[in-house]
Amino acid sequence: MTETTHLDESATTTTARAVGAPAADHALEALEIERRAVGPKDVRIDIKFCGICHSDIHFARGEWGEIPYPAVPGHEIAGVVAEVGSEVTGFAVGDRVGVGCMVNSCRECENCLKGDEQYCLRGNTQTYGSVDRDGTVTHGGYSDHVVVDEDFVLRIPDGLDLDAAAPLLCAGITTYSPLRHWNAGPGKQVAVVGLGGLGHMAVKLAKAMGAEVTVLSQSLRKQEDGLKLGADGYYATSDDATFDTLAGRFDLIVNTVSAGIDIGRFLMLLRTDGALVNVGAPPEPLPVPVFALIPQRRTFAGSAIGSIRETQEMLDFCAEHGIAADIELVDAGHVNEAWERVLASDVRYRFVIDNSTL
Ligand code: NAP
Ligand code: ZN
Ligand code: ZN
Repeated sequence: MTETTHLDESATTTTARAVGAPAADHALEALEIERRAVGPKDVRIDIKFCGICHSDIHFARGEWGEIPYPAVPGHEIAGVVAEVGSEVTGFAVGDRVGVGCMVNSCRECENCLKGDEQYCLRGNTQTYGSVDRDGTVTHGGYSDHVVVDEDFVLRIPDGLDLDAAAPLLCAGITTYSPLRHWNAGPGKQVAVVGLGGLGHMAVKLAKAMGAEVTVLSQSLRKQEDGLKLGADGYYATSDDATFDTLAGRFDLIVNTVSAGIDIGRFLMLLRTDGALVNVGAPPEPLPVPVFALIPQRRTFAGSAIGSIRETQEMLDFCAEHGIAADIELVDAGHVNEAWERVLASDVRYRFVIDNSTL
């Protein structure tokens, strides 16, 4: 990190080392970005680890629409507070902290006032690719430090290692929130579609909440892992018999798949009043046959990350239950290879960048 004092203002911006995409069709490469000066309510975090989410790939490759380049992804940030602004009350230098998918919201709309800032009616400020309040484009955690308003900083409990905790900031909360909202717990049959980063957290969390958990994966290749993660059942969706065996079984299905799947077939696995919640975010539409919904009053829903309050609740829940991500650490120079392995569903079960190698 280098500091630059601009002569026309007292504030000091900093230059961060980063890894990012210069264009949609370009491999990631080392680059430098500017971070805003630490304002009165800001916290500067030295990033120790950053998880690699499939969303980073959708985003940087322009699959969700046009974005500003260079793009520096990363919203599973774990680090240590290096500096606090004069009005910060919640954090001190040396605290172990995390930042997830959002770094601000309007704070005035109905949802923000309710504490559901992930559903801010004016759109929350995303950790990367959003226009921040100072008019600059936000950049994510594939970098050595970040400056964030303290209201969007999470506390990582002492019982969690920073590297394995990093993926909780997206994969953890994105699965925890719908599991809670749709009441996963004792007596409930929960299925998780796709055993990747989100999927493996969904299995661990649903199990810890007391539900009976079934994994629906493309093949039985990862069955042994799935059962070790806590699943009670494991089925291959490539086998047509799976859809007969499990018809009408589940109260809740959490679909974490990053590509299009035949939603109608999965809806038929729900009981009466069951819900299939899509957290996977493929760029193309997922056609829903209404006659898979109507006869059994089934619900097809979506869910986005979770609020800041719920994210802290999830981190505390994970510490209490001894839950974190199963990770493979990668150096900053090998993120392109890690992305290729994510795209090939060859991830066990989250890549995490060791940011000291930037
Ligand atoms: P990931 O690690 O790549 O896991 C996705 C899993 O889906 C794969 O491991 C694979 O599991 C399965 N899969 C992949 N391609 C498939 C295909 N063509 N057909 C069937 N199954 C396939 O990805 P992730 O990081 O968990 O993210 C998953 C999705 O959630 C992404 O679209 C991401 O953008 C989205 N997301 C949404 C939110 C939100 O707030 N809603 C937050 C974070 C991420 P198996 O090998 O077991 O089949
Ligand atoms: Zn994510
Ligand atoms: Zn709002």
